[in-house]
Amino acid sequence: MIKLIINDIAIDVKEGSTLLDAATQLGLEIPTMCHNGELEHFTSCMLCLVKDGKTGKLLPSCSAKAFDGMEIITSDDEIREARKIALELLMSEHAGDCEAPCRVACPAFMDIPMMNRLIVAGQFQQALEVVMKDIALPAVLGRICPAPCEGACKRKPIDQAVSICLLKRFTADQANTYPAISNSIPSGHKVAIIGAGPAGLAAAFYLQTNGIQALVFESNPLPGGAMRYAIVNAELDKTVLDHEIDHIRSTGVQFNPDTKIDASAFTTIRNEYDAVVVATGNYSKSMDDWGMENNGKQIVVNKNTYQTSLDKVFAIGNANRSMQLAIRSAAQGKDVAISIKQMLTGKPVKGEERRFNSTLGKLMTEEHSEYMKEGSKDERQAPAGFSDKGFDAHMAQKEAARCLHCDCRKPNDCKLRLYSEQYDVSKKRFAYTGRKPVKKIFQQDVIVYEPGKCIKCGICVRLTAKHQEKFGFTFIGRGFDVEIGVPFSQDLDVALGKTALLVADACPTGALCRLD
Ligand code: SF4
Ligand code: SF4
Ligand code: SF4
Repeated sequence: MIKLIINDIAIDVKEGSTLLDAATQLGLEIPTMCHNGELEHFTSCMLCLVKDGKTGKLLPSCSAKAFDGMEIITSDDEIREARKIALELLMSEHAGDCEAPCRVACPAFMDIPMMNRLIVAGQFQQALEVVMKDIALPAVLGRICPAPCEGACKRKPIDQAVSICLLKRFTADQANTYPAISNSIPSGHKVAIIGAGPAGLAAAFYLQTNGIQALVFESNPLPGGAMRYAIVNAELDKTVLDHEIDHIRSTGVQFNPDTKIDASAFTTIRNEYDAVVVATGNYSKSMDDWGMENNGKQIVVNKNTYQTSLDKVFAIGNANRSMQLAIRSAAQGKDVAISIKQMLTGKPVKGEERRFNSTLGKLMTEEHSEYMKEGSKDERQAPAGFSDKGFDAHMAQKEAARCLHCDCRKPNDCKLRLYSEQYDVSKKRFAYTGRKPVKKIFQQDVIVYEPGKCIKCGICVRLTAKHQEKFGFTFIGRGFDVEIGVPFSQDLDVALGKTALLVADACPTGALCRLD
């Protein structure tokens, strides 16, 4: 047996063990990407670096053998920085979007490509569920949102953006009943919301469906705020608004109409409720003596959590910045529910935490045809009489089929994304201009290979060799230009007859993905 010390803990390991084996035996987690326990070593990603405590040398733990008397350190600032650099180098030549650009541009971060896929599959109710995870008023916003998502749509420079907003509206309009967004077990907490516009309604909906009793105070006789009192009927039929407010009410949200809140009522509410959300619309001078820090035009808030200077008081929508889009106010309503839940459950209040996101940027002209491999060639569908008529099911499916599915197929399993998050990676640090054009290579209905997302770990090369594929994958080219590919330009169907799904599952990034 070999005796060594890892992070001041003595351990005995079998002869021939690697430092990674030894650390794993101790239950320590070392990040790896090119390592695969079933395959021969092939050190390439340099993420598993650890430090020899006696020499100070950094060693790749997946291949460095354990020796008697070694003293190994698996984590310190220098190791962390070395791993971060390794990731940033990989990221510098990485070509891919973790999240679709339309989703990133949507203030509510709605999963647009998923909605589109479900519409194409005829699963309209499931598509509405996806929408309502992020948007509490889909039929209303499907009519009045100026659709910043469509401005970012990758289909836009090819011909015309996908008609995302009308598709969202379709999911709501086609539904006889709205999905029963799971009501958590009541927590016993109650939150007051002042104002029943898009921000206040969304906050109430997401608090209530998270088990927190929401009570909305509204100065007008009916809820809806600007959506009811500032938008004309021709643009937004108020029966649509009433229908969606009824749904919010049906989740258990309580409304107190005709209730004007002044400084003394505000103090009473603060004392009676576990939290208060100020969603009053534009800030007014009369709110000066409510006690929140303000700059005369708006309430000052923490931009991530919407906390104000007063304990347990949050401010969203136009109250913290005037002239916001309704969708932005509604998105803040969703996000403030997250902050309040964190506070009420004793967690650090951080607001919604967005994941690391690799972005591809503008498409090159030669990439258009690659992206079009995943979308129908049809032109954008335009329903006659836009303002009063949305898509029927046939048009919606035709339009959704135009989506190019720009999101990555492994957003949750990709190790490159996961570690980039953990190591706070910047994609810009080693960025260079002139990335290689994106290619998408399909094995019909089975897998897709995107070389731009490949980190050249060689796992697929070793796997196809182990399973004796006639062609398999191989390294093509040299040095910086090396690529993983199929020898003799064979099709993937021929090259990966036995191992297509195996390599897709083993690939540590979204370079090789299943199509199911
Ligand atoms: S391969 Fe990973 S890092 Fe790259 S786009 Fe996909 S999820 Fe993001
Ligand atoms: S093509 Fe689809 S996934 Fe891509 S940006 Fe447009 S709507 Fe989003
Ligand atoms: S395609 Fe092959 S070499 Fe590239 S990241 Fe995936 S498994 Fe590794």
